[in-house]
Amino acid sequence: MLIAANWKMFKGPRETVDFLGRFRAPDGIDVAICPPFASLQAAADAGATVYAQNVHWEPEGAYTGEVSAAMLRELGVAGAVVGHSERRRLFGETDEGVARRARAAIEAGLGVIACVGETIEQRESGDMELILKIQVEALAFAVGAHERLVVAYEPVWAIGTGRTATPEQAAAAHAFIKRLLDVPVLYGGSVKPDNAEELLGQSDVDGALVGGASLEVESFTAICQAAASLS
Ligand code: PEP
Repeated sequence: MLIAANWKMFKGPRETVDFLGRFRAPDGIDVAICPPFASLQAAADAGATVYAQNVHWEPEGAYTGEVSAAMLRELGVAGAVVGHSERRRLFGETDEGVARRARAAIEAGLGVIACVGETIEQRESGDMELILKIQVEALAFAVGAHERLVVAYEPVWAIGTGRTATPEQAAAAHAFIKRLLDVPVLYGGSVKPDNAEELLGQSDVDGALVGGASLEVESFTAICQAAASLS
């Protein structure tokens, strides 16, 4: 079981070192910390398994504001998140671009957590499966069921809203994704200490991508302990 902490644009190097000095991952699970770019080195030096929050598809070039897989590897970073809904929604990232990012990262030897998920409008209009199919097939075509690829199912309506998918909704979406691409699937969307065990206990839920609740050592530890109790 993998529990990944997406810190979004929170925690500079000082807060990163402070958090990692106080956090102990329980035995029996894998934990990945995804800090902002500026804190990657501090997190790697503190001994954490570190994932970046994005990665570009080219090794270098005139791409202002982007970072390549080779640069991440040089820092001791183990992988990268791609396709987070905030990247898609706020920064115009497309399924094709996300798939290119995933492929470049895998080819460079990084692990990848590739995020997919539907908006509330798409779910309510009955298009959830169609949207997941388009997003997952772009990854399947570009990368395939690679051993370093993990998908995160993150219904957009559940991210940072306090609203979670029901365990049944999560289980159904995960099973659907796995039929398209046979890789581990994390659940993300308002995972908290009080709902972690139920969500993580569903079949086909192989871990969690945690945003808000990963920012405090206490709540992130409680989620990791819930995962460890199920492992
Ligand atoms: C996320 O940022 O990937 C996420 C799931 O956020 P939250 O847990 O805050 O909903």
